Amino acid sequence: MTMNASFEQIGGIFSQYDSFVILSHVRPDGDAIGSQIALGFALMAIGKKVRLINEDGVPENLAFMLGSDRVETPPDEPLEVEVAIALDTASKVRLGERALNAASKAKVWLNIDHHISNPGYGDVNRIDGTSPATGQILYQLIKALNLPLTPESRDAIYVAVSTDTGSFQYPGTTAETYDMASDLIRQGLDLGRINRLIYDSYPFRRVELMRALLNTLECHNDHRVAHWDLTMATREALALKPEDSEGLIDIIRAIDTVVVAVFFEELPDGKIRVSMRSKDTRFNASKVCGTFGGGGHALAAGIRMPGPIEDAKVRVLAAIDAELQTF
Ligand code: AMP
Ligand code: MN
Ligand code: MN
Repeated sequence: MTMNASFEQIGGIFSQYDSFVILSHVRPDGDAIGSQIALGFALMAIGKKVRLINEDGVPENLAFMLGSDRVETPPDEPLEVEVAIALDTASKVRLGERALNAASKAKVWLNIDHHISNPGYGDVNRIDGTSPATGQILYQLIKALNLPLTPESRDAIYVAVSTDTGSFQYPGTTAETYDMASDLIRQGLDLGRINRLIYDSYPFRRVELMRALLNTLECHNDHRVAHWDLTMATREALALKPEDSEGLIDIIRAIDTVVVAVFFEELPDGKIRVSMRSKDTRFNASKVCGTFGGGGHALAAGIRMPGPIEDAKVRVLAAIDAELQTF
């Protein structure tokens, strides 16, 4: 097992093998789908056989992405591929059961990610916690190996990095991120168009969801903690899609007094999805989520835990209060 593979080592795998399945996490975000497209089209451009598989397919909000029609939900039978590549996925189970079955014949597993909690479940791993998005690691990889930057890869890298950095705002954003963005623009990226498609094209029901969430908003601990929740009843009443709640936590994260923002969501399978954001480096959200089997980054992390939602709230909010006590 290689923990911190060089781009050259990864390039060696690309040269040695011919067929690849590229995977990313369930409930994919812009960095997940963007990373799959970015690397997928680079490998296709050098003549490799590539399948892009995601457990949940492409969400409606990312269907505008060039090349997203190549991302498929898993077939029933395992694919005849030599290499499986997991992108932007903190743990192997987050790839999803059907996607794992589709990739089960792969001889070599490559794992490229920026989650500090990633244990390195590949045969060859590159986990770079200093990168604000997996898309930025793939940009560096494409440049280092001199792989073609197709229009699909170019746009996908932008979507991946923009969505994971809160539009190039979060502290993980580096000078290199901006250098990369300016290079993508020089390579023909249509900035106004792509930002409109990412940020100004929401369905009306997302605003209705915002209204419903605001009605559940609660703050405690001197307004240092803010949380809201989404029940199955609201999900059904508004006919929500899973991606409709993406990014809404930033509204309560932006409250001036707030150090920790939490979003509790009832899922159709009875589990509770918890999203957590921290604005203080002393509060490590990944560590707190880790005590419940979740993970992520220091300032943005999540959990999938057993319900009911009331119990999940009590347990997680108590853990947050305990951690806040320490500073
Ligand atoms: P989210 O709140 O879903 O936007 O997730 C924030 C960050 O935490 C993302 O980078 C996720 O990949 C990560 N994350 C979310 N849920 C989990 C989980 N159950 N296990 C590990 N990492 C997670
Ligand atoms: Mn992601
Ligand atoms: Mn990411």
